[in-house]
Amino acid sequence: MTVTRLPRPTYSSYEWQEQGRCRTKAVEQFFTDDQEIDQRERREKTEAARMVCGGCPVRAQCLDHALRVPETFGIWGGTTPTERAQMLWDVAG
Ligand code: SF4
Repeated sequence: MTVTRLPRPTYSSYEWQEQGRCRTKAVEQFFTDDQEIDQRERREKTEAARMVCGGCPVRAQCLDHALRVPETFGIWGGTTPTERAQMLWDVAG
């Protein structure tokens, strides 16, 4: 695994996370890839997470981070892994 695209592990690189609206939420709410829940529940969890992200002051930084890593699980910046994969595909194409 290459880590050269990751920000340097300094506090300032991840300071934005302290302003995330998800900080006070259960982390499981943002990881909707759980195969043990059915599609309807997964969709509801995804939409609930998106609602939190919708008013988040660091949404752009969060999405930028998720695309650069890339984060392959969870809701980041209001997007699903599939949506981020599509964004990266579009940019590469
Ligand atoms: S955009 Fe969503 S996942 Fe990212 S920090 Fe904000 S609330 Fe958390």
